[in-house]
Amino acid sequence: MSVRVVARIRPLLKQELDKDTIVTAEIPDEKSGNVAIVRIPNPKNDAESFSFQFNSVYEQDATQQQLFDSEVAPQVKQLFNGLDITIFAYGVTGTGKTHTMRGGKSLADRGVIPRLLSSIYRRCRKIEKDTAGATEVEVAMSYYEIYNDRVYDLFEPPEKRTPSGLPIRDNNGKTVVVGLTERPCTTLKEFEQLYDQANINRSTSATKLNAHSSRSHAILCVKVTQTTETTVQVSRASAIDLAGSEDNRRTDNNKERLVESASINKSLFVLAQCVEAISKKQNRIPYRESKMTRILSLGQNNGITLMILNLAPVRSYHLDTLSSLNFANRTKKIEVAEVENEPVYRQFVKPLATTGISGANIKRQPLRPIA
Ligand code: ADP
Ligand code: MG
Repeated sequence: MSVRVVARIRPLLKQELDKDTIVTAEIPDEKSGNVAIVRIPNPKNDAESFSFQFNSVYEQDATQQQLFDSEVAPQVKQLFNGLDITIFAYGVTGTGKTHTMRGGKSLADRGVIPRLLSSIYRRCRKIEKDTAGATEVEVAMSYYEIYNDRVYDLFEPPEKRTPSGLPIRDNNGKTVVVGLTERPCTTLKEFEQLYDQANINRSTSATKLNAHSSRSHAILCVKVTQTTETTVQVSRASAIDLAGSEDNRRTDNNKERLVESASINKSLFVLAQCVEAISKKQNRIPYRESKMTRILSLGQNNGITLMILNLAPVRSYHLDTLSSLNFANRTKKIEVAEVENEPVYRQFVKPLATTGISGANIKRQPLRPIA
């Protein structure tokens, strides 16, 4: 299976209503051979255009519900079958990544993350009911950001954070953040409280830079543990709101947008190099050169990966949009093995054996950091 790449074009904002739309979608029909296409003019010659083919394209009027139902809901079933799922939003600042992943307050505006959790809890209840309680499902989560190649726990208040961030290490082929808080979370309401507080922690973080949130990657990791009399199966869903992909070195993109002195986000640069190396089948993939690429480990992690490419339709984003499209075009060629996390027999599961916690009270475990 390759990485699934879908594009989402956001509507014009109030202040853009008089602007030209230059990014257009061609939605699959029989005439087009059932392929979804994004079209954009050649910046050097408006009479010409480039087209990019994706697994699906969502136009300006696509709702949060449509995106979730078509792209994410089917993955939830796979999560409970033991597959890890990774969903990440990629795009220039202002193209709708946070809107897509987190969304707004109203029910209709809720993004991928709250809908994912709602769907997970619904499934938990169904499984517990269908098995008459013989299978217990525990949901726990961690939420952190990577800023300037440092990992900060978003469940910790900013003043408690170590300025140098948390270390990461490899654990049986998976990259883990050492010392990250993992919070058990049994209801959607509980999740919303945790998540909202963590997002406040994010915006008031230590560095207090203006453009902080557009320069940091936010990673929510939801761990689902299914416990039966004899087995324990763990799978994870990761939802990632990446830093803005704009190249701040560019001065001619347009004059309205602020030209910052900082160069392009280094981890996104490494990510682009990884994607390029993988798509060219090179032997050396520079994953280890940034924490974000180690954690995302595109093409190395097993399971299902979905990339949502967020696009703004207006000309002021022209060059950055084109470079996002080129990045996405290479990403869709990356192969991911669909390997399930095997259930583990309970006598081999250390935490249960050493703490003597039985399946029946597993939900009441105290907060504990991930080993
Ligand atoms: P990013 O996180 O990529 O920087 P945001 O999610 O903050 O971008 O979106 C930028 C602006 O566009 C916000 O005001 C957001 O509400 C709006 N927006 C983005 N996508 C949509 C959408 N699909 N429908 C309505 N408004 C959107
Ligand atoms: Mg954002």
